[in-house]
Order: sequence, then C-alpha cells, then structure tokens
Amino acid sequence: MDTFSVKTITRKNILEMLPYSCARDEFDGEAGTFLDANENPFNTDYNRYPDPHQKSLKQVIAKIKQISPSQIFLGNGSDEAIDLPFRAFCEPGVHNVVAMHPSYGMYEVAANTNGVEYRKVLLDENYQLNVPSIFSAVDQNTRIIFLCSPNNPTGNDLNPEAIKEILNKFKGLVVIDEAYIDFSERSSYIQEIENYPNLMILQTFSKAYGLAGLRLGMAFAQTDIIEILNKIKYPYNINVLTQKLAMDRLLKSDTVRNEIQLIRQERERMREQLATLPFVKKIFPSQANFLLVQFENGDAIYKFLIENSIITRNRSRVALCDSSVRITIGIPSENQLLIEKLRSYKSL
Ligand SMILES: *Cc1c(COP(=O)(O)O)cnc(C)c1O
Repeated sequence: MDTFSVKTITRKNILEMLPYSCARDEFDGEAGTFLDANENPFNTDYNRYPDPHQKSLKQVIAKIKQISPSQIFLGNGSDEAIDLPFRAFCEPGVHNVVAMHPSYGMYEVAANTNGVEYRKVLLDENYQLNVPSIFSAVDQNTRIIFLCSPNNPTGNDLNPEAIKEILNKFKGLVVIDEAYIDFSERSSYIQEIENYPNLMILQTFSKAYGLAGLRLGMAFAQTDIIEILNKIKYPYNINVLTQKLAMDRLLKSDTVRNEIQLIRQERERMREQLATLPFVKKIFPSQANFLLVQFENGDAIYKFLIENSIITRNRSRVALCDSSVRITIGIPSENQLLIEKLRSYKSL
C-alpha cells in the first residue's frame, strides 16, 4: 500500500457484497400508508421500524460538528464504531492493528473477537506517543492504528505533532477516539477529516452528553469510509427512542455546556483537595471528566472506598499506572463524600 485508499484496505467480501435492503429504502417521504415492513399497524408509539439512516439526527449533528451528514456514522455505542472497522478492513488471521497502551480496553476486545492481532505500543513516561515505536510495530499487514485523546485511563491529550506525523506516514486507517473531547481545552480533529482520507474520529453520547444508557456513538470520516460502515451495520442499529432522546438532548445545548463547565470546575477543585492527602503520590493532568490518582497503595484505597460504597476504577495493575485509581468526577456532593472518606482513611 503506497497511498491510502478505502478500496485497497477493504476486505474483498465486503467490497463485493450487497447491503441488506430495508423495506423503507425505496420511499423517501414522511407520510404514507406503510404496508411494506410487516409491522403491526396499531399505534404503540414504537410499532414502526426506526429510520435506518438516522437522517434527522445526522442533520442536527452535522450542523453542530460543521461537516456533512454523509461524513457521519451512528452506532450502538462507540462499541459498534470500534468493531465495524475490524470487520470491514481486517482479514482475520492476516491483518493486525497497532494501538497505544495503556488505553481503552474495547479496542483489544474487538480485535480478539474478530481474530485480528492486537499490537500494543507503550506510551512514554508522560503518557505521550512514541512515534518511532509505533512505526516499529507497523508492518505491511497493519490496517488500523488506534489513538485515544484525551486518553482513558490516563486523562491527558496526545501531542498534536505526533498525531499529525502518524496521519501523514501511515497508509492505513488512523482512529482517534475523542470520547472525552468536550472536557478538553483542545479542539477536536473533526475538521482534519477534509485533509486526511485515512482519519476516523470517534465521539459518543455517553460522557459529556449524559446519555450512556441510550447507547449512541458517532464516527466521523470521509464519505467513502462512512459508506463502508453503513453497508455492514445492522440495518436498524439505532432504535426509535435513542434517535428521539438524542435529538432532544442536542437541542438543549445550554444545559450540556453548563454541566461540562461544572464538571471541569469540580475536576480542578478535586485536584486541589486530593493533593492535600498525605498518601496521594501523584495526580496526573487531566483533560477528561476523571482524575488518575497514584496512591501509596492504590489497591488498599480502592478496597477501602468499595467498603464505603464508593466505586472507583482500580487501574493499579495497568501498565504505567502502578498503584493508581481512576476517579470519575461526580456531582459536588459525591465528590465531597469521596474526599471526606479519604480523609478518614489516614486515621485508620
Ligand atoms: C467511555 C468511552 C467510550 C464510550 O463508549 P460508548 O460505547 O459510546 O459508551 C469510548 N471510548 C473511550 C476511550 C471511552 O472511555
């Protein structure tokens, strides 16, 4: 592969297949007498199939993100948008993907379920990309590189020069997971999809938008990549309620913005409070809605908090996260409770 093209990285069976043709694909209007899909005609509010192309929702998202609706894929959580590129671009047992490590666990799960080798490349001591190590893991069978910025579980943004270098040099797909971008000072790479045909951005309604329970993830890329994902997704992958409630939430942008602002403020307040505890060794910089905190004994802290019904994420045994716990920023009273419990730990 000398230059990137969607055709050269797409599996032959996917290129050649015909997508499922939905009953309603041949009709574009809103009103009509629908006798095509074997639905029950009596109204339950949910007796009709959802729009398989999520046209109204994509229009609103396109406006907010300043791209075209044809550059948007919507999935059943980011999970679907992570899984589908494996199915589209990676031949099981042949191709491999490269991912920064530590990062989000779902990339490896998706690689394993698809029978695709997953190559982890350790971040440096500042949790930044080591571009030469990334490229020493890449070979001619590498189809995807996974990057995550701000990264989970470390919380930091990746260095933009390193990202650009990877985008420029790598001839396969570069996925940048921006699940936490709304909490970051840095702006999204979405506008770069114009410049990079090999770039795919992931975002989600699960974090800043407050809709984790609905399962709605977004992927942004040039149209030819999005078309491949649309071709192989389950036809009705986003249900009626999810499409409706996501739309309602998008129209309440003031509420979302205020919540993000408060979470960021709380994050910095928590940083100050945690820093006063003698058994806290390090609080890592965060551009996300959580703090990675290194304790003298992370395991013990994690267990102590569980005993007090405060659930955090123990990352103690994750590479480069020795003795660390990932703490999500809650509402102020929850954050205060955590601090008070931790203050009482010292006296045990
Ligand atoms: C939480 C998270 C997601 C969101 O996944 P959904 O399936 O959309 O809920 C994606 N990527 C990362 C890195 C995350 O931490």
